[in-house]
Amino acid sequence: MDPQTSRSTNSAPSAARSTLAGGLRVTPFELFGERAVAASAPTAPAPEAPSSSTGVAARPGHAFLFKEPSDVPLLVSSNCPTTLCNYRCTYCYLDHDGRDGATEDKAVVHWNRTVDRIATIPRPLYLAIGTEGEPLTVKPFWETLRRLSARENVKGFWFPTNLSRPIEKLAEGVDIGKLGLTASLHPSEFKDHDRDLDLFLSRCRWVVDNGGSVVINFILTPGQFELFPVYRYIARQHGIAMTCNVFKGEFEGKSYPDAYTEADHARIEEFFADRPLVHHYMSGAPSRGVACHAGQDALEVHPVTGQVLNCPFAQEKMGSIWDDDFQIRTKPSACSTDWCQCHWTIGLMAEVTKKFKRTRAIFDFEAREPGEVGEHPFA
Ligand code: SF4
Ligand code: SF4
Repeated sequence: MDPQTSRSTNSAPSAARSTLAGGLRVTPFELFGERAVAASAPTAPAPEAPSSSTGVAARPGHAFLFKEPSDVPLLVSSNCPTTLCNYRCTYCYLDHDGRDGATEDKAVVHWNRTVDRIATIPRPLYLAIGTEGEPLTVKPFWETLRRLSARENVKGFWFPTNLSRPIEKLAEGVDIGKLGLTASLHPSEFKDHDRDLDLFLSRCRWVVDNGGSVVINFILTPGQFELFPVYRYIARQHGIAMTCNVFKGEFEGKSYPDAYTEADHARIEEFFADRPLVHHYMSGAPSRGVACHAGQDALEVHPVTGQVLNCPFAQEKMGSIWDDDFQIRTKPSACSTDWCQCHWTIGLMAEVTKKFKRTRAIFDFEAREPGEVGEHPFA
């Protein structure tokens, strides 16, 4: 998959380095110390949320998430806690070799409980499922998608993948009409470039032909810039949309995106010509104070503890998914952090929402009709 995507959807470093109450930074796997499990992770599914009010009033500007059904779609991000990946991209900052399979398996069991709890939210739901590895290599992941497929209120689920394995077999029983993918293109990992590129594109095509939504993503590591327009041309020939992500991290001793040159920025701006705000914010423009739908139309849920944040970057603590009285915002609020780092979170900003609507492939925005002013990212 795409570590830059993963970062943005909280797996690494957010799931990998989530901040719990008290400012302690831990990985989800470190949570399996006895005390943490006893304190945070439920051992049995929580009872159904009561349908009648307990008499506690919602705070001003908030509504009860489980007690007040709504037709407004909600995006919930909760990452599958696994680090297994069959690729070793040189620019990947994730640790695929130091994985502890048994601990990860336990974390996936807890994540499944979290996902099932999320699925009881009485709203149309879009689930964003990142990982710190490659979902095609994780069998239980597909069981989760089969369960979600059967839920009427779950309108879509998204994940990033390198599409290196036959998704058409793995996805048996999954409602492809609900599937959104960010297909991360990593040509450096191809053994036979033309053959593997053909396979990658044919898998994208299979998903689209069966009603799914796909956007190919490409990481703009230094030296790869000129490849992006070439691959985008090929993808378009196959009828698949393609986008790119700025590189965030260390590469050959330099830190990105700060180390991008003027010329790099000019190229990136050109690549994002149809969505200038994405380039603006992904390149490091401050987001603090910007009106945003995070915490209102989107939530970030820790896969193991169920702690809810407004988004992976601002990380405002909103409560626990296991609290029947959990309250969600009813209007946009000001961003409380300096840098909104990724497409999909930038798409939650009110100024973007007014002009664009999100799709199931959550890196994608559809332009609204002329004169239409959007009030929610998914509606
Ligand atoms: S495909 Fe695997 S190795 Fe490559 S960037 Fe994604 S997670 Fe990292
Ligand atoms: S602008 Fe971005 S970082 Fe800020 S609250 Fe919204 S989604 Fe989060």
